[in-house]
Amino acid sequence: MEYEAVIGLEVHAQLLTRSKLFCGCSTTFGRPPNTQVCPVCLGMPGVLPVINEKAVEYAIRMALATDCRINHRSVFARKNYFYPDLPKGYQISQYDEPLAEAGHIDTETPDGRTKRVGITRIHIEEDAGKLLHGEGDDEASSLVDFNRAGMPLIEIVSEPHISSPEEAVSYLKALRDILLYLEICDGNMQEGSLRCDANVSVRPKGTKEFGTKTEVKNMNSFKFLKDALTYEIARQIGLMEGGERVVQETRLFEPSTGRTRSMRTKEEAHDYRYFPEPDLLPLVLEDEEIEAIGVMLPELPAQKKTRFMEEYGLPSYDAGILTSSKRLADFYEECVGLFNEPKTVSNWIMSELLRLLKEHNISMEESPVGAERFTALLKLLKGGRISGKIAKEVLEEMFATGKDAEAIIEEKGLSQISDESELLQVVDRIIADNPENVERYRAGKTKLLGFFVGEVMKATRGKANPQLVNRLLKERLG
Ligand code: ADP
Ligand code: MG
Ligand code: ZN
Repeated sequence: MEYEAVIGLEVHAQLLTRSKLFCGCSTTFGRPPNTQVCPVCLGMPGVLPVINEKAVEYAIRMALATDCRINHRSVFARKNYFYPDLPKGYQISQYDEPLAEAGHIDTETPDGRTKRVGITRIHIEEDAGKLLHGEGDDEASSLVDFNRAGMPLIEIVSEPHISSPEEAVSYLKALRDILLYLEICDGNMQEGSLRCDANVSVRPKGTKEFGTKTEVKNMNSFKFLKDALTYEIARQIGLMEGGERVVQETRLFEPSTGRTRSMRTKEEAHDYRYFPEPDLLPLVLEDEEIEAIGVMLPELPAQKKTRFMEEYGLPSYDAGILTSSKRLADFYEECVGLFNEPKTVSNWIMSELLRLLKEHNISMEESPVGAERFTALLKLLKGGRISGKIAKEVLEEMFATGKDAEAIIEEKGLSQISDESELLQVVDRIIADNPENVERYRAGKTKLLGFFVGEVMKATRGKANPQLVNRLLKERLG
């Protein structure tokens, strides 16, 4: 029997506000434990939460960017459970009246089709603290850091529209891109600013009914998400083939083994005794407020891609790569502004610049070659000062030394030779040195032109102007 997977993701994104969701504590990452806390986020008795307006604005941005319906009235709710990292004994979240519902994100499937994944809901909630295991005086002890307690999160819950680990990765990438474009989350999965729980079940291919799902937690990279789902799908199929049943439970992914293991049986909503948060009024939003946020929305990845294709005449492939990050897209447009040859700029970014960034293992932000320097190089190429081959060498040198193209060309004497009389000397010497090939060329084997061009290039260490060399050779040989 053939099986198919059904997957839905629950994604938590930490919002880039300067203060926490219900108090004025700083959200800066990596500070000493318990230095960014106050009575509110420590859950002292008698304190009152106050909602962070910026967090609401950021959540609305995401809801608009994913075409959700925004509820004019949403309600905060207490989700009650005990855990040492949760000082109040409950988390303030939203439950039956979330901020936004019924949106979607378009993603690309591995075979290049666009697939629309539904967004069930987006709601606002606070984060819990963090347990640090084995960091106390003895290895068996655990300590708790409340700096994260009360940090603002949005949870984005997808419909079970995802059908493979690859699609899940591409959905999460698209979601992360949108967050980054909106500048509301830094998207850092290692640091936990973006976290993903995957719900997965399998069913016989072609059937309608869903199988029993498990929820997998603790995947802090795209690769781990893919590995965890791949493992979990195979495990569930194995159970079904062996005549056993999948148990509904929460499982933990272990990166070291690539497996998932049972963590706890699945909790139900009623276990949490949700009830409306009595210390906060319902969140009421007017149309004008939502519209005002809407008009400030930046261009999103999919829109940018379409515009790049139309405005710069780029193929879909180029536009997709160049808009894969906002930084890269901005860099591209800055370059085109300085050197208006969109396809040339695109080619050089995709084939050379991205390769060098990868080789040096640095990000766009850390690149020693900014738009100004990069386009200066392309201008020298276009103006005939250097050949394409030399330009590649110069760019590598720019990366290695941080110098600009002009300086490197001067220093290394790399200027293209476009002086006719100088090149003629070389051409004549090559012709004199290769009488047999000259004869064969003249007898009709004109393909040998390439050989002669190559010899001239070798003799000039790649500096000869190729067009000129071609013309001179044809004249002399003809
Ligand atoms: P729970 O109450 O257990 O958290 P929800 O209905 O809220 O379950 O769904 C949580 C996530 O699980 C959503 O992303 C949803 O799309 C997904 N999901 C629901 N049912 C299934 C299923 N049978 N298989 C896979 N994913 C599912
Ligand atoms: Mg869940
Ligand atoms: Zn606080």
